[in-house]
Amino acid sequence: MPLRKVALACVNCGSRNYTVSENKNRTERLEVKKFCKHCGKHTLHKETR
Ligand SMILES: [Zn+2]
Repeated sequence: MPLRKVALACVNCGSRNYTVSENKNRTERLEVKKFCKHCGKHTLHKETR
C-alpha cells in the first residue's frame, strides 16, 4: 500500500509549503508550526485534501 502524500498549507497565506507522508495510524488532522517564506515567520500549517 503506497504512502499518501499530504500537503501542509500555511493558514495565513494558504501557500502549500511542505508535503509529508501520511501516518496511517493518525486520527486527527495534521497541524504543524513551520516556517513560511511567504509570511517570513513561523505560522501554523494544516493539511489540505
Ligand atoms: Zn504563509
